Amino acid sequence: MTAALLCCGSYPVMAQTNSTYDAQFIEWPTYNGNDLELTVNNSGTHFRLWSPKAKDVRVNLYDNGHTGSPFKTLPMKFDAATGTWTASVPEQLYGKFYTFQVNNDGKWLSETPGVWAKAVGVNGKRAAIIDFDATDPEGWAADKGPEVKHFSDVIVYEMHHRDMSMHPTSGIANKGKFLALTEPGTTSPEGLKTGIDHLKELGITHVHILPSYDYNSVDEANLQQNTYNWGYDPQNYNAPEGSYSTNPSNPSVRVNEMKQMIKALHDAGIGVIMDVVYNHTAENDGSNFELTAPGYYHRHWDDGRYSDASGCGNETASDLQQMRDYIINSTKYWADEYHVDGFRFDLMAIHDTETMNQVAAELKKVNPNIFVYGEGWTAGDSPLQPERRALKENVSKMTDIAVFSDDLRDAVKGHYTDAADRGFATSKPGLEETVKIGIVAATDHPQVNYKKGNNSKFPYAKSPEMIVNYVSCHDDLCLTDKLRKSMAGEPEENMLAAAKLAQTIVFTSQGTPFMFAGEEIFRDKQGVHNSYKSPDSINAIDWSNKAKYNDLFNYYKGLTQLRKSHPAFRMTTAADIAKNLKFDKIDSAKTPNLISYSLLNNANGDEWKEIKVVLNGASKPQTINISKGNWMIVAADGKISPAGDLGATEGGKMTLAPYSALILAKK
Ligand code: CA
Repeated sequence: MTAALLCCGSYPVMAQTNSTYDAQFIEWPTYNGNDLELTVNNSGTHFRLWSPKAKDVRVNLYDNGHTGSPFKTLPMKFDAATGTWTASVPEQLYGKFYTFQVNNDGKWLSETPGVWAKAVGVNGKRAAIIDFDATDPEGWAADKGPEVKHFSDVIVYEMHHRDMSMHPTSGIANKGKFLALTEPGTTSPEGLKTGIDHLKELGITHVHILPSYDYNSVDEANLQQNTYNWGYDPQNYNAPEGSYSTNPSNPSVRVNEMKQMIKALHDAGIGVIMDVVYNHTAENDGSNFELTAPGYYHRHWDDGRYSDASGCGNETASDLQQMRDYIINSTKYWADEYHVDGFRFDLMAIHDTETMNQVAAELKKVNPNIFVYGEGWTAGDSPLQPERRALKENVSKMTDIAVFSDDLRDAVKGHYTDAADRGFATSKPGLEETVKIGIVAATDHPQVNYKKGNNSKFPYAKSPEMIVNYVSCHDDLCLTDKLRKSMAGEPEENMLAAAKLAQTIVFTSQGTPFMFAGEEIFRDKQGVHNSYKSPDSINAIDWSNKAKYNDLFNYYKGLTQLRKSHPAFRMTTAADIAKNLKFDKIDSAKTPNLISYSLLNNANGDEWKEIKVVLNGASKPQTINISKGNWMIVAADGKISPAGDLGATEGGKMTLAPYSALILAKK
């Protein structure tokens, strides 16, 4: 059993070369046909398993998805040129199940559904043969996600299926299921919108769903146990997770219900980004990779031990052709069959930059609106050379790929490893330059001194479209819990003010903003920082919070509206940012926790000639001198109006409340 570890920051890397042990796999023949493992057509049912070094392979055919003996076992024939084993029957075996069994050095390994099972029986132990056309919801042929001209236009909302719907206050019938987001008209006990209507009201553009492929840790045959898991323990990469369906025993149901969810979101104008975890498998020797082609798909140290850059027991080998093709083809499959609009790569730096470039390029061919981003770090050392890793620091070696900025995250709210540590938005001095790195999306800017940055020491992003800015996600303390721990002793109104300020920084910064589900209504996780298997009582969002913290919700709504209606916050090139974003001179040593900047020249075609953003993270009021002019007040003292009608000012000395943002604009 593996644990989803905290995967939240850069890990120190030693210079390494790929291991001598893994060199043997480069010689293996590869096969990239689209008929791997299963094809059903007019001439029957055809199996083709890639396993170049197997002594023998057979297919077991079953009537049932998890019990009983095979009704037939087929021998398979080897083709040395492709390294694949084939078998066929003349019948179309819809409704039946199968497993492969590989003989490795004279020993028959355990049965496996293979690595390309697109439908599976309960708990994913056997692959299912289903008619995919029959799984399409009505109108599926015309279904498509939102257009994305620039990644900086996207606003990401990261959610877990159970978090969103399990709480009794969700008013949702299909709790914890894909179908939860297909229900219109759901409300909290106080009558406020929940579910998909809430997402529309909030104004985000994309939901990022935590792993929704078939994972290992939840027993799909015992759903009444209500087991919770984030799902970073991959089992079958190409089939949906059964516990999110209303009937995991019927392999078509999970496929259909996930498509229904995606269609409902698309109909609401919202894109769907999948969290993908190709970097490791839940099991080592027992993984489907090892049971089909032992040794090949995982990386090893020179002595043959599994290397473990994931911190979960192993790591996969994207630098080997068959694994690289697997990642490319698997994401393409989700984009094509499920109309998925984007991918968030877990521990992306375990993969090599060449693989990620090919993933993004191939996905663009399926759908030019697809957004790919990932964690630009590993959770341990890897045999892959640091210069080849898809690290944050290597993002400029990649095209159409973005990385999370841990710079902004840790600087705004305090470091993730220390619950009590405060950040810029909670009155800790000395973090101003690191916040500025986030504001300019880690691009080269004449007024930002990267040497003074806490995390990164150079402008690693060639373009703002390479950066995802955030203050919290599923990992670590969520924003509410972080504020409660680091601001212990202060009144809740200060924490709410700091929450608004922190998220204002994210939403007004260049790059793509990303938020964690429920933070708009001050959701917490009762201080549990690693809630990957905590019960629903910790993880589920209490929707009564929406009435209780309605002012906060309205503020978030204002932030999404402001960003969407003003392209100045969404510049698309580093040159534009360097030219149009100008910081005001403030001596941080004398006046800490104060940042002020202007977006000038109708930046990026904005109707506003100049936008002034002033951020006060101090626990006391701070005064700033605003240049004279006819300013509209867009945000002040914890209030926001995207139309700029909170009032007017001619500039001069203006005072910001503790933990607050001031946004002004002039035409
Ligand atoms: Ca599962």
